[in-house]
Amino acid sequence: MAKRDYYEVLGVEKGASQDEIKKAFRKLARKYHPDMNKEDPSAEGKFKEINEAYEVLSDPEKRRRYDQFGHAAQGPAGGPGGMGGWDFGDFGSFDSIFDMFFGGGFGGGRTTRPGPERGADLRYDLNISLEEAASGLERELEVMRLETCSTCGGTGAKPGTLPVTCPVCGGRGQTTQVRNTAFGRFTSITTCPRCGGEGRVIESPCQACQGRGRARKRKKIRVRIPAGVDSGMRVRVAGEGEAGARGGPPGDLFVFITVRPHEIFQRDGNDIVCEIPISIWQAALGDDIEVPAIDGRASLHIPEGAQTGTAFCLRGKGIPDVHGGARGDQYVRVRVVTPTRLADREKELIRELARLRGAHKADDEPRGFFKKVRDAWERHA
Ligand SMILES: [Zn+2]
Ligand SMILES: [Zn+2]
Repeated sequence: MAKRDYYEVLGVEKGASQDEIKKAFRKLARKYHPDMNKEDPSAEGKFKEINEAYEVLSDPEKRRRYDQFGHAAQGPAGGPGGMGGWDFGDFGSFDSIFDMFFGGGFGGGRTTRPGPERGADLRYDLNISLEEAASGLERELEVMRLETCSTCGGTGAKPGTLPVTCPVCGGRGQTTQVRNTAFGRFTSITTCPRCGGEGRVIESPCQACQGRGRARKRKKIRVRIPAGVDSGMRVRVAGEGEAGARGGPPGDLFVFITVRPHEIFQRDGNDIVCEIPISIWQAALGDDIEVPAIDGRASLHIPEGAQTGTAFCLRGKGIPDVHGGARGDQYVRVRVVTPTRLADREKELIRELARLRGAHKADDEPRGFFKKVRDAWERHA
């Protein structure tokens, strides 16, 4: 059950002065004082609510904390006594035991009610392309999440009505049973079965949320994914998770990123690698070519005598660093393609070239492969 906003309880503006708060409290306290409302059982609950609101808003420190954190400023309730358990009844009445140990009894019933609860976090799995990972993107995500019911404002009660003090436990959230046993008189304390410990019940539930105060809704959320993200990273969108219960804050939305494999580029950290086929003539004579880049195209100079497998670096053409560091590089690896389907004249020219160079020699081969082969043959001769 959502706790009402203290300013709303006293009917004052958020920026109200101490005087205005005091005045509003006096007026309401007179109106709902239990002595003045003997016929109206809900007046006591309202009176407690008013007292509680005044207690916080009239204290500058408590008010500052409440303004900042809402009801969560008081921390999760539960507190002394908890739910269930045993107490010896010989000390006197149940109430006086609590007066003795914890001073002030139940107050507004707050100590026994479940406190505000933070909403659950949500996970959204987002698939993006490598280009999107490199540039960053904005995307509208559609999520199903629990939202505070707009019809009842989260109270769970039908508009125009309010939750009332539980008739079974009188707002305490607990019921007591006194039992006489051979060992003496025991008081058994249990969570109130009617209100489930909340101290208040909804007599006419809100139709829109069936009294739950929250409802599952489809919601569109715009998120910004920074440039440089990679698979396995998650982007936190604060406060866009599920609504909290009983006035608690909402959870967060986590967007889990998966970057799809790319047709041309492989990613290695912030660097990208691609392979480009070049002709045997380009490899031998050198050339200036255009190559694909992550954000369009780039020019690459191939020097004379380029070998298959050699990688050329394009500085700063990789992926931006997601944490603001240096942008990665692009490595272009060349693969020399042997020509096929040669025309007669072409074959003639290559044969001539072969005669010129010596048919089966690859003198420029850097690791001296053919020399090793010749040495091996000589050893076996
Ligand atoms: Zn509702
Ligand atoms: Zn109850």
